[in-house]
Amino acid sequence: MSNQSVAPQARIGIIGGSGLYQMDALQDPRSITLDTPFGAPSGDFILGQLEGIPVAFLSRHGQQHTLLPSEINYRANIFAMKKLGVERILSVSAVGSMKEEVEPGHIAIPDQFYDLTKGRKSSFFGEGIVAHVSLANPICPDLAVFVADTAEEIGGIVHRGGTYLCMEGPQFSTRAESDVHRGFGVSVIGMTNATEAKLVREAEMCYVTIALSTDYDCWHVSEAPVTVEMILQVLRDNVLFSKKLLQSVVKKVDGPRSCRCASALKNAIVTPSEAMSVSLKEKLDPIIGKYIS
Ligand SMILES: [Zn+2]
Repeated sequence: MSNQSVAPQARIGIIGGSGLYQMDALQDPRSITLDTPFGAPSGDFILGQLEGIPVAFLSRHGQQHTLLPSEINYRANIFAMKKLGVERILSVSAVGSMKEEVEPGHIAIPDQFYDLTKGRKSSFFGEGIVAHVSLANPICPDLAVFVADTAEEIGGIVHRGGTYLCMEGPQFSTRAESDVHRGFGVSVIGMTNATEAKLVREAEMCYVTIALSTDYDCWHVSEAPVTVEMILQVLRDNVLFSKKLLQSVVKKVDGPRSCRCASALKNAIVTPSEAMSVSLKEKLDPIIGKYIS
């Protein structure tokens, strides 16, 4: 058995974005520090029970928001979730809206990504092992329905489907870029979720993006002037809503999985087992162990 193996400690993983740095509703919270073969995650994981379900919470940018989107060690974050036994990841993110109808304060549950990030480490493979997973449908369809239904039940205005454009940042778009992105037909823009989704798929977990619209990026010519206070108020309201949503949805999404996410690596690993080094097999054991002799 690999020295990386630990007993499953959580079934659902929650990644908090801007403004969501902790989950007050977690019962019996305990903080743990995890290391991975890919380095250290964004910070300590908070384990606890949410509505009786064992969950693991991680603040994507660090608990004090010290990491740029480009500085986040996405591989470590997702690998650590896998090690904890997580099967489903609910990823909360503040985004800019690229469509008139996705108003600030609305929730988007995208079903696609368009990745414009540059050179991020967004695969667990390489250095002796090659695998190509399908990303045709990067969001777990089951998880998306549960989350969208629940968000509506608790009073949210939800936009189902659509594309999340993932940009490198940290600067926001120029108006020229924003106009081009609008031409792509995307719904929202953010800086982190496409990278997460790729790694989550390789690790055979389910992923859903809960995109909370904070503003209209810079393409929108508004009649009323937008103040910083207005944006901050939207952010605060969105964070409160996301906490309520997470608490309401965990029980519904917990249970056996019937989606394809759990077998994403089946037939995806190209390199034969005998060509892999022992140390490589050991390193990736939580992810490839079940396919490797
Ligand atoms: Zn799934």
